[in-house]
Amino acid sequence: MSAPAKRTVGVGVIGMGWMGAVHARAWQAAPLRFPDLGVQTHLVACADEFTPRARAARDEHGFERVAADWREIMRDPEVGAVSITAPNHLHLEMMLAAAESGKHIYCEKPAGRLMQETEQAEAAARAAGVCSAVGYNYQLAPMAQYCRQLLDEGKLGSPEQVNCRFLSMYGANPLSMLTWRFDEKIAGYGAAGDILSHALHTAQFLAGPITRVCGTTRTFITERPLPQPGRGTHFSTGEPKDPKGKVGNEDYAAALLEFESGAIGTAEASRVARGPKCEMTFEVYGEKGAARWNFERMNEMELYCPDGTPEHDGFVRITAGENHPPHSNFNPGDGIGAGYEDLKTIEAATLLKDIVAGKQTTSGLAQALSVSRAIDAVLRSGQSGSWEAVAR
Ligand code: NAD
Repeated sequence: MSAPAKRTVGVGVIGMGWMGAVHARAWQAAPLRFPDLGVQTHLVACADEFTPRARAARDEHGFERVAADWREIMRDPEVGAVSITAPNHLHLEMMLAAAESGKHIYCEKPAGRLMQETEQAEAAARAAGVCSAVGYNYQLAPMAQYCRQLLDEGKLGSPEQVNCRFLSMYGANPLSMLTWRFDEKIAGYGAAGDILSHALHTAQFLAGPITRVCGTTRTFITERPLPQPGRGTHFSTGEPKDPKGKVGNEDYAAALLEFESGAIGTAEASRVARGPKCEMTFEVYGEKGAARWNFERMNEMELYCPDGTPEHDGFVRITAGENHPPHSNFNPGDGIGAGYEDLKTIEAATLLKDIVAGKQTTSGLAQALSVSRAIDAVLRSGQSGSWEAVAR
């Protein structure tokens, strides 16, 4: 007997820079890594403002065609889901167009630039009944999922303290180009939207809704070399002699957090920290035990689960394996590590699962909205110098 035909989801990707390529690979890998979904994907069309990039992406990833304008993708009946991997100022318009055309949305974080934009997008997606995923990939790491499982099983007790931080070096070199991330009109917030958002998303994943924050922000490097259109990425550097422009948003953002559950915590992010390269970490201290994780060593977790024996009277390092789904979807053996792009594959698979089920079961734009609201409160608090409530 032949296997039942798999449903095909046609995909469009808009913005073929770093994340555009990552999404294209994730859409292709997800059905292979998660065959139980019973779905396959087809890369229908890609678009980029810089056409040579879109053509190169078509050739590299096997898209059927290049769209001259991203709006064509929204009108394309073959496309069922769109990846929005263009810079942040375009996300809202693209998400609204996707919802209006009934396309499922895989948008990169931070969804909207500001809270109001994410609110609008979330409402539009909900009203249109389309499924959404937002690129807050870190909580999808098998060890982060395992930590959530331990919390659900009560093995760590209720979280009392949660500390999440994202320290990155991507802007530490003053010659790192003034790409769109440093422009408040394009990016919106700086480190707050770009990476504190990951820390806040993870904090809520571990301890639930944040009710109020006491935040602060700082810009340490105030001007940078101007980029050349169509060239350079997130990680490019200029020359000391290059003309410079003004940095428009913050390098650092942090906050004390209070959660609805009664837990307290911190979230901190810097794009100019010297030393940590991509140190997205969480620490959760519960009534019975604790867990600590660092993305730079994403296949490990430190676990404190005391059982009265001296062997467990302290943190124990555990490595990802078959007991930590979905590790086995990537590697058959314990301790054989998964990587960053595997998280994006899991993300695409979670969206495909919702598309197949015909309903939103994962966090999607609703959780991205609670992150946007928390960021808004951090920025307000930085200005007022007081605790600020997170909008509900
Ligand atoms: P990038 O600059 O490398 O790529 C953006 C691409 O969009 C460029 O190729 C650009 O030409 C294209 N573009 C600009 N205007 C366009 C338009 N009108 N139509 C079509 N294409 C257009 O940026 P990136 O680093 O890939 O970031 C993209 C998004 O992904 C951002 O929202 C960012 O916050 C997010 N991101 C998420 C993660 C993560 O870990 N989840 C990591 C990096 C970036």
